[in-house]
Amino acid sequence: MALREDLEQYIRDSQEELKQLIRDLCAIPAPSHHEENRAAFCRDWFVRNGGENAVIDEALNVICPYHVTEEGDVVVIMAHTDTVFPDTEPMPFREQDGVMYCPGVTDDTANLAVLMICARYIMQRNLPTATGVLFVANSCEEGLGNLKGCRAIVERYGRRMREFVTLDGTDLVSIVTRAVGSHRYRVRALTDGGHSFRDFGKRSAIQVLAALVDQLYRVEVPVEGDSHTTYNVGLISGGTSVNTIAQSGELLYEYRSDDRRCLEQMSAIFAETVARCTPPDGKLQVELIGERPCAGDVDQRAWMDLMERGAAAVRTVTGREPVFTAGSTDSNIPLSAGIPAICLGVCVGGKCHTREEWLDTASLADGCRLLMEFFRSYCTK
Ligand SMILES: [Zn+2]
Repeated sequence: MALREDLEQYIRDSQEELKQLIRDLCAIPAPSHHEENRAAFCRDWFVRNGGENAVIDEALNVICPYHVTEEGDVVVIMAHTDTVFPDTEPMPFREQDGVMYCPGVTDDTANLAVLMICARYIMQRNLPTATGVLFVANSCEEGLGNLKGCRAIVERYGRRMREFVTLDGTDLVSIVTRAVGSHRYRVRALTDGGHSFRDFGKRSAIQVLAALVDQLYRVEVPVEGDSHTTYNVGLISGGTSVNTIAQSGELLYEYRSDDRRCLEQMSAIFAETVARCTPPDGKLQVELIGERPCAGDVDQRAWMDLMERGAAAVRTVTGREPVFTAGSTDSNIPLSAGIPAICLGVCVGGKCHTREEWLDTASLADGCRLLMEFFRSYCTK
């Protein structure tokens, strides 16, 4: 029990530093594809705190290897550095009654900071592990980052990756076990257009787009078992003026599913709908702008075992039953490659992806306990 007491002491003693780390990280803007400064901060922090071999890779991931050998198995524990917000100036940060308010503070800054503080404990105490561990502060999780950072990690280490955990939740009991895949498109309608009075009767790009939207919303989603499949036209724009027959317009469309067969069927339905809605005197140009895969062929026994260890940590620390959910996270990538993966939360917050995002700092100590309790499953004593 000496280890438990030592850990408990460490968690208590490091809470102020953990909060400061979150403030420091929040002050470094990190929109997807522009995580350079936050990555440099994390790399330097790891180097100063026991991870001398921490490096930044070409995808802007910070990789801190622990007990990793040339060819040996690894497990990955990651949290992402990017924020969903495009801001390149530091975002407003305030604190009141133990709650921090800042865009990105929970998603994923606090999860990342908990990972860093726990990694330091593991590295400084040199806890013995059965496999190598990669602590990763990864890039490009959000939106059109399209999971680029995680893709690079799986590409490089996938062959010897035993399992994968991403910390990207907003509470301490939810465990994302089902990967929601998605395809995202920009569709541009192009026509000759013209003057609204003189050229009346010519094809309008807005008319073409509107007809397409109408057809897209008539689609009945495919069903496989207890699958869940959705679609959405999220943005539409175009035209020139009130007295112009529109020459161009565009929309953003996505569909999602937690079943890869349904995702494939949606892909076919979409292609067929676009073809049917393309008029002889106009064009519909389709551009794929995002693609997140569903789970592939994952060894069910190994995957269940990982879920169960995550669930056990949740029960031990919170005394509550874990809630298994479906989501779109970095774990989509290892799952699509057949590697067991889950997503855990190690802090409590809310209003993510809004300017009112908040974090309950009182949850951080339990977040550390949860991650360390889970990490014990990799330790050999
Ligand atoms: Zn996130």
